[in-house]
Amino acid sequence: MSLIVTGSVGIDTVETPDGQRADEVLGGSSIYFAAGASYFTPVRLVAAVGDDFPAPMLDQFKQFDVCTDGLEQREGSKTFRWHGRYHENMNDRDTLDVQLNVLGEALPPVPDHYKDSKYIFLANTHPAGQLALLEQFPDRKLVVADTMDLWIETEPDLLKTLLSKIDGFVLNDSEAKQLTGEQNVIKAADAVLAMGPTFVIVKKGEHGAILRHKDGTGVLPAFPADQVVDPTGAGDSFASGMMGYLCAADDTSVDAIKRAMAYGTIVASYTIEKFSTDRLAEIDRATIEERVKEFATHLDIGAGI
Ligand code: AMP
Repeated sequence: MSLIVTGSVGIDTVETPDGQRADEVLGGSSIYFAAGASYFTPVRLVAAVGDDFPAPMLDQFKQFDVCTDGLEQREGSKTFRWHGRYHENMNDRDTLDVQLNVLGEALPPVPDHYKDSKYIFLANTHPAGQLALLEQFPDRKLVVADTMDLWIETEPDLLKTLLSKIDGFVLNDSEAKQLTGEQNVIKAADAVLAMGPTFVIVKKGEHGAILRHKDGTGVLPAFPADQVVDPTGAGDSFASGMMGYLCAADDTSVDAIKRAMAYGTIVASYTIEKFSTDRLAEIDRATIEERVKEFATHLDIGAGI
């Protein structure tokens, strides 16, 4: 099974509270997603960059086994840029600058050989681009989307249309509250379900994630991490392990989603150990399995209940 993704491909500048920073590094939601998911299943990318996108960044991304036939380098356009600064808690962050550039333009054409994709991930990007990709796949089996505060604020109507067409939605707790007006995470998740999807996953950073599905509920802690260098891309990496696992297993049941969330947690736990995709480039499927097994021991509360 192949997994198709659209989302941002960006040039990031990241500052962390210990004074470290990474200037103009490879980033973007679809980059983290495609890189992580490539350890599970074939991944196809549809996204655009501008003519200013540095060749070494493309080479860095090409280390991952991802089909880039749908990645357009658009003449006369500029690449998406994001500059973020993390708070002391390494969970919250401020966006200091965001330049949408090519993200505000039309989605590139979907290559013909991508058309049999059944699993679709709409990583964080303009909801118009998310809808444009989705509508080209009438035979899809599972479509899951992510979003961010910027789009909740600027494109609420398009987001509501998107929510009525997808199976699953992933967002963080503050975004869930912003979207629904509910302060309680479970009430917020239920309010999202009322907008259309079959399931919603609310990510709570170092406190894990909650699944609210029409067929059940799941809770999962985060992997206990003491080496958090840069949390950028953690959300996209979580989605990558989750969708990669579901696509490889070709299973969309609630039990499979719960297992898939454990894989997502572990891919995210690697991403945050270095800037950009540097740590993701060092791992392989065996490394992921090793930490998933360790994580399973953390989750084991014995047979007495
Ligand atoms: P995450 O930490 O998982 O939320 O993802 C961080 C990535 O999202 C960074 O590499 C940014 O380039 C990218 N990003 C930041 N803001 C946006 C936005 N409004 N739309 C799409 N991607 C974004």
